[in-house]
Amino acid sequence: MTLPVETTLRSPEAYGLSRRVIDEMETAGVWPTPLNFELWLHYLGDPESALGREMQRMLGAREPFTEAVADMLAAEYLPRGRLTEEIRDAGRVLDRELSSVADAISRAHKSQSAYGQTLDKAATSIETAGDGAALKTIVGGLTTATRRIQRENETLEKKLDASTREVARLREHLEQVRRDAMTDALTNLANRKAFDEHLIAACEQAETTGEPLVLAVLDVDHFKRFNDTWGHQTGDQVLRYVASVIGRFGQAPRVAARYGGEEFALIFPREDARQVAIALEAIRKEIASRSLRRRSTNDELGAVTISAGFAVRQPGDTHTSLLERADSALYASKRAGRNRVTSAEALEQAA
Ligand code: C2E
Repeated sequence: MTLPVETTLRSPEAYGLSRRVIDEMETAGVWPTPLNFELWLHYLGDPESALGREMQRMLGAREPFTEAVADMLAAEYLPRGRLTEEIRDAGRVLDRELSSVADAISRAHKSQSAYGQTLDKAATSIETAGDGAALKTIVGGLTTATRRIQRENETLEKKLDASTREVARLREHLEQVRRDAMTDALTNLANRKAFDEHLIAACEQAETTGEPLVLAVLDVDHFKRFNDTWGHQTGDQVLRYVASVIGRFGQAPRVAARYGGEEFALIFPREDARQVAIALEAIRKEIASRSLRRRSTNDELGAVTISAGFAVRQPGDTHTSLLERADSALYASKRAGRNRVTSAEALEQAA
């Protein structure tokens, strides 16, 4: 079975695959631009995927691999291309709905003014009407005009109802697409992109309000060794387990994210160092206390541990400097023997 490329890239095969990508691009005379690299990575990592088959066909037919072709393949087959396509589709549906609502409103507007004219004319005719028969004709004309406008109003109402439903459906779909784009597929935590956005917003908020903000980074200890011993499918399960614990402690307004391969992050708005240290210790202990089993063979895998570091935002800290300080604390935890939590402030004071 072919593994997803994202999984292969965090496995022992990652470097071999990357080297093959470079070699094959050189053989094919293709520049190793970031986009080409990504396309070839997906092609060689999963040759039987739709992109893999299309590229085999193109290369077999010696079709030139130009930048336009690369853009087209990316839009068609890469996950971010699919996202753009979904957004474009939604835009098209919205356009269609808006123009049909605009048409319906303009038709209704015309009918209303024609009806107004009919009423005006009737008012004048009534003044000059000589007998009952003439009045009867005028009232008959008014009744017909009123029925017509009623029908048109009903049609407009139905059209507006249908469009409202369609726009609500679209909004829900776009919201799902937006959530997917911000969610890490393996762990269901916020992904790196969402994390970056949350952290920038949290730093701005803390800067404006003067409220405290703490950032923590957490990393699974010896994950590579674990992956090499038990395989990356089990490695993925371990990540899911660690993520499930972190996620439980990362309920809003906290933000829990998978920041990289085996690295996680937690944002703690409006909390101080003491509260954060307690939460991180609880996460660390809970993860270390459980012995995991390999699902396929029921082998005892033992417990995994995590190391963590956290930093309290200081005046003038940007999201990047805050992240760097939390990272230094994480690496201090690793150096000190892993399975522990270190605060950047304690580290800085000691230095
Ligand atoms: P999952 O396999 O989708 O399981 C989701 C949740 O179902 C688990 O959340 C747990 O509450 C429950 N669950 C599933 N299987 C068992 C079981 O055999 N015994 C018990 N008592 N409960 C079970 P939890 O514990 O937070 O785990 C989250 C994810 O972490 C799991 O998702 C799985 O991907 C991974 N994981 C957790 N423990 C293990 C383990 O011992 N071995 C492996 N291979 N993966 C594990």
